[in-house]
Order: sequence, then C-alpha cells, then structure tokens
Amino acid sequence: MQPFIYAQSPVRVVFGAGTKANVGSEVQLLNCHRAVVLSTPEQADQARNLAEALGPLSVGTLAQAVMHTPVEVTERAVEAVQSMRVDCIVAVGGGSTIGLSKAIALRTDLPQIVLPTTYAGSEATSILGQTAAGEKTTLRSPKVLPEVIIYDVDLTMSLPPHLTAVSGMNAIAHAVEALYAADANPITSLLAEEAIAVLGKALPRLRENPNDREARTDALYGAWLCGTCLNAVSMGLHHKLCHTLGGSFNLPHAETHTVILPHAARYNAAASPDAMRRIARALGAEDAPQALFDLAKSLGAPVALETLGLKPADLARATALATKTPYPNPEPLTEPGIRMLLENALSGTRPSASASPENVYA
Ligand code: NAD
Repeated sequence: MQPFIYAQSPVRVVFGAGTKANVGSEVQLLNCHRAVVLSTPEQADQARNLAEALGPLSVGTLAQAVMHTPVEVTERAVEAVQSMRVDCIVAVGGGSTIGLSKAIALRTDLPQIVLPTTYAGSEATSILGQTAAGEKTTLRSPKVLPEVIIYDVDLTMSLPPHLTAVSGMNAIAHAVEALYAADANPITSLLAEEAIAVLGKALPRLRENPNDREARTDALYGAWLCGTCLNAVSMGLHHKLCHTLGGSFNLPHAETHTVILPHAARYNAAASPDAMRRIARALGAEDAPQALFDLAKSLGAPVALETLGLKPADLARATALATKTPYPNPEPLTEPGIRMLLENALSGTRPSASASPENVYA
C-alpha cells in the first residue's frame, strides 16, 4: 500500500427521514438561540416551514440565495444577519443555498446547520466558490465547513426528475475524480466506489419513479459519500474543466458535470487503470467512461455541450483557459487532447472504449 494522509472532517451528520424535526435540538446543541433560515426564492416555503418549526429559536428567513454565490448577495445577507443579531445559520437547499451559508460563515464565523435538498455535496466540503465581477474563484477554509448536516430524505422528494439526474451525476463526478486523485487514499477510494455503486443503482430507479423513497434514501446517502470524497482529496481535469465552462461560458453547473464526466474519465483512463476498474465494477460494466456516458443517457440527462449553449466557436477559448494553469492530473494536459475532449463533449459523442486505440486524447 502507498503511504497516505487522510484528515477526517469534524462534522456531525444526522441522516434519515423526518430528521428536519431535529433542527431545533441541533440549534440548542450548538448553544444557539437566534437562527436565520436561508434558501433560494424557489424554496422560500421550505425555509418558512423550518423557521416556524424552530419557533422562538428562529429570527426569520432570508430567501435570497442564487447560483454561483455572487459577493453582492453575500454582502447584503451579512448586513441582514448582523442587524437580526443572528447566532446560527440554518440552510435548506442545494449547493447555491449552502454556498450562501458558507460565504456568510466565512465573514462572520457563525456556525452552520445545513439541510441539503440536492446531491451536489457542498454540505460536506470546506470549499467555497464565489463570483465577483463576473469571475468565479474557489477557496478552501475550515471556517466554511458546516458544523452539522441534517440529511432528510423527505426534503429531496420534491427534487424534479431532471435535477435528480444531473445532480446525481454531479455527485458521481466527485467520486470518479477521487479515485484517481494525486492524493487518493484507501478511505476515500472505498467511499468513492460505494458511492458510485449506490448512485448508479438509485438514479435509474428514480428515473422510473421519482417518488421511490428507498431510492431517494440511497441517492442521498451516496451524495454524502461523494461530498466527503470531494472534501478529502484534490480534484483534477473534470472539475477544472467544469469550473472553466461554468465560470467563463455561464453553462449550468450540474448539467456541465454530467456532460464532461465520461470524456474526462476517457482522457484519464490509460493513466488510471485501477480507478477505471473500480468505476466499471461499481457500475457493473466493462468500460468506465462508456458506462458513465450510458448512465447519463439512460437518465435522460444532457450528453452534449451544444444543448447547454456552448458554440463551436467557443472551443478555442475554452481549450486555452482549461490548459492555462497546470494542476495535478493523471494524464498530462495537452492542448490538442483537451480540444478533442471538448469537441466530443460538444457534440455528445459516446467515448471510445478505453482499450481501443482510436480517438485517444493524449
Ligand atoms: P441549486 O442549489 O442551484 O438548486 C437548483 C434549483 O433547484 C434551485 O432553484 C433550488 O431552489 C431548486 N431545488 C433544490 N433542491 C430542491 C428540491 N428538493 N425540490 C425542489 N427544488 C429544489 O443546485 P445545485 O446543483 O445543488 O448547486 C449548484 C451550486 O452549488 C453551484 O454554484 C456550485 O458551484 C455549487 N457547489 C459547490 C460545491 C462545494 O463544495 N463548494 C459542491 C457542489 C456544488
């Protein structure tokens, strides 16, 4: 076995159905009395319900979270939080709401209780992406890691089928990259393989029946494992490409992850055979990149960047941006290789089998 470093997050996890009823006792366990409940405008009702359930432990709601955590929104929220004399943040929602919670925590050191309603995994990470002057930058800080995660399957039952599929693929991407990360370790690899297997079974069941509670439970469990992987190791080509495409071309977050993942896996396949074996085993398939593509397609999720709004004319800039700053990745990054990857992702071409010689990226 290779030597490794593994740091465990100091997070308390409450998992189950109906667990949102625990929010009051979790606020009290943190010795807090004035919680604000955050959400997006679309999930304002869920935030209001939680605030009502908190009763005198809540000072109100802020339903202002939007995608990509713009700093102007955060600054307004920090002012509101200070004038309401908040001592604890409760966030109910997906990565956008949890992003706002983390951005407030970064600036105020307030403790956070988060109730995730998608599979994005942000709740389990000390990573925060923020947008200022049209540019999204990412930081890691223990200050932004939530103190408590309450996973309540009930809150995920309303996740629309399209979001279920793309958010689930977004989660799987964390696990895939964890398997070939430069700082991979036996613990995250175990979590990652289990997560891919669990989500690989749950997502097709949810495509059949979005109200399948058992599949919803499995998907949420898998999403937690994926978020834990994202936090524990550094991410490579896939996440960097998605970041570039999201930040510079304004492509939607989870959909972009869904489209890029099979191609990033194919790019790295020859350089990470053990990771590919584990992904293929988890999905019960022969070839990992093809299995990821087939899974996305079977879920009715997008498989081509052109359907997300990227144009052929954007490829040169996207390639240049994606190869500008070097970072660890199993397969060295080359401009022609990344360009070919993006061309295939643009048109939605199924990746060639990892063992086949044609269409090799690098
Ligand atoms: P999101 O939070 O933007 O949610 C998308 C939409 O779905 C919103 O309108 C939301 O209100 C709604 N929604 C969410 N859950 C719902 C539910 N159960 N029922 C009905 N509607 C629901 O989407 P997301 O993909 O979870 O988050 C994307 C953001 O999270 C991006 O900004 C991304 O950068 C960030 N993110 C950060 C990390 C990290 O570790 N920092 C990890 C993953 C994603």
